[in-house]
Amino acid sequence: MIDVLIIGGGVSGLEAALTLKQCGRSVLLLEGSGRLGGTVDTRHVGGFRCEVGASTVRSDGAILNARCQEFGLPLKPVGRSASRRKGVLTGSGLLHVAGPGDVLRSALISWRAKTRLIIEPLKRSSTNSDETLHEFLVRRLGQGAGDMLAPLMARGVYAASSKDLAVRTAFPRLWSMDRDKGLLRSLAQQTGAGIASLPEGLGQLSMGYGRALDSEIVRQQPVRNLEYTNETWIAHTDDNAYSARQLVLAVPAQVASDLLVSTDEELSALIGSIRHSEITNVQLGYHGIEAPPGFGFLVHPNAGGETLGCVYASQVSPPCAPSGSALISCMVGPSADPVASARHTLVQALSWSGEPDLVHLTPYPYGIPLYDVQQDRLRQGIEKRLGDVEGLQLAGNYLRGISVESSLQSGRRAAELTLKSSASRQVA
Ligand SMILES: Cc1cc2nc3c(=O)[nH]c(=O)nc-3n(C[C@H](O)[C@H](O)[C@H](O)COP(=O)(O)OP(=O)(O)OC[C@H]3O[C@@H](n4cnc5c(N)ncnc54)[C@H](O)[C@@H]3O)c2cc1C
Repeated sequence: MIDVLIIGGGVSGLEAALTLKQCGRSVLLLEGSGRLGGTVDTRHVGGFRCEVGASTVRSDGAILNARCQEFGLPLKPVGRSASRRKGVLTGSGLLHVAGPGDVLRSALISWRAKTRLIIEPLKRSSTNSDETLHEFLVRRLGQGAGDMLAPLMARGVYAASSKDLAVRTAFPRLWSMDRDKGLLRSLAQQTGAGIASLPEGLGQLSMGYGRALDSEIVRQQPVRNLEYTNETWIAHTDDNAYSARQLVLAVPAQVASDLLVSTDEELSALIGSIRHSEITNVQLGYHGIEAPPGFGFLVHPNAGGETLGCVYASQVSPPCAPSGSALISCMVGPSADPVASARHTLVQALSWSGEPDLVHLTPYPYGIPLYDVQQDRLRQGIEKRLGDVEGLQLAGNYLRGISVESSLQSGRRAAELTLKSSASRQVA
């Protein structure tokens, strides 16, 4: 019998499996689909290369950098001109800015709201650990600046409303600035990590893991149910059963909840209570026209519509579109017609009303876990309950952060806890 079964071949499961393998454990990773990477998914469609999930990563991720080096992958910073020039679409049109600090200086904020910023450094930190992102920014920056900035940050990172997100867990850096020097001073002193990508798309990362794990991966093995008998976990797929003493469950929250219902109802209910934002990635490709310079733009709710933001993919990763063509990746919230929503936004922002040559749609009904005030309590409950379940660890973006690097960290953490629990079992 192998030592550890890993279920789910997204980046968190891949990192868990490789860490365990490199620590001398025998592992087997079961992936439900025919490909690795989960939400890190580079597809070639109609002459365009589309990142239908994650498109860029922070350049300072420790695990990501180490793995890229190990796999021989050149993680490249996105060009400064593309990464620094961002836009905001409001009801009055599209305005370009260089970042959150620039939003506060720009015409997006009234003079009255700008004057209020002067007292920001004098504001006391809050004792309310359930403060939402919107409450936090209004408290520190005033109503005008808070109302403008909060929805942009919430939409840009979590595809969510700023009145739902808990600032302490959704934006831990902001929360620590509140306790440290205040927002404006901290932002001014930040050198800020850039964003990065891989020359052939982020899918290269999962291919790197695939090569390193090789025969330890079985694809097209969706696990249908789990059993725990005689100190052994058994994962049942349509035509097989796989056993191991230890299990790392690295599937999305709603799948983990379903799979655990028969072995631990309480854990299953806690995981199943984590809310998610629904999102659809609409990729629109145009021949004979180039995307404007810059990264793209976020859509403020006062612009109307369901689109949350658009990335000028052909500017951010130039080889992803044929020369002289544009690829725009539009993130759309719940919508009866996401393509119409995305196209309407391009008319509003860029006056682009022509027929796209490529329309590629990827819906994520449970796209991004919502780090709301409940999430932290649920996570604590999950981790406490997990301490009582023999041989099981969880990994995934619903626990301690949604980015690719945070998901890698959750895989690494699950592997380390697995190693620790098997060591203590041996001592016992
Ligand atoms: C549209 C979108 C854009 C994003 N953009 C960025 C970005 O630009 N930068 C960034 O850092 N992050 C981004 N993220 C977030 C990031 O991509 C994810 O949080 C991260 O990749 C999640 O990894 P994971 O391994 O936890 O889960 P997943 O990627 O969801 O992987 C889970 C895996 O489990 C498999 N699976 C599911 N059920 C079963 C089963 N029953 N049996 C076996 N296998 C199963 C799935 O097929 C999948 O491979 C984005 C997310 C979305 C949705």
